[in-house]
Amino acid sequence: MSKPLFKVVIIACKKIRAQGLCPGDAKCLIAAMRGEGKFAEFKDKDIRVIAIIDCGECPGTRVPASLGVLKPVLDALGEKPDAVFLGTCIARLCKYKDEIIERVKKVCQVPVIEGTHEYPLKFP
Ligand code: SF4
Repeated sequence: MSKPLFKVVIIACKKIRAQGLCPGDAKCLIAAMRGEGKFAEFKDKDIRVIAIIDCGECPGTRVPASLGVLKPVLDALGEKPDAVFLGTCIARLCKYKDEIIERVKKVCQVPVIEGTHEYPLKFP
């Protein structure tokens, strides 16, 4: 029997992405595909990442606007996330994390999960 779909939007740290410190968002995507890290509790579902956006730079005040720009695109495509994940880059390293989480929770009507993968932040 096929698993129910579980659609996910990920928010990533703009600085880390811009500096190429997380090539291809691979760790988030692979953790989602394998149901590892913070995705493990949804392993009974068919996890699909439908969008990755960034925080918009420090101090992350643009996140609601970025989600606001994303929403009509997802609406037009007939998609709706079941959860929003804050990347591990934000969860582990961002000093504005708490404010970002608060902002995201205010605008999202779906669960907000803190973190994505549990792999090392840096591979040799
Ligand atoms: S606000 Fe946090 S997540 Fe965004 S760029 Fe700055 S350090 Fe990265």
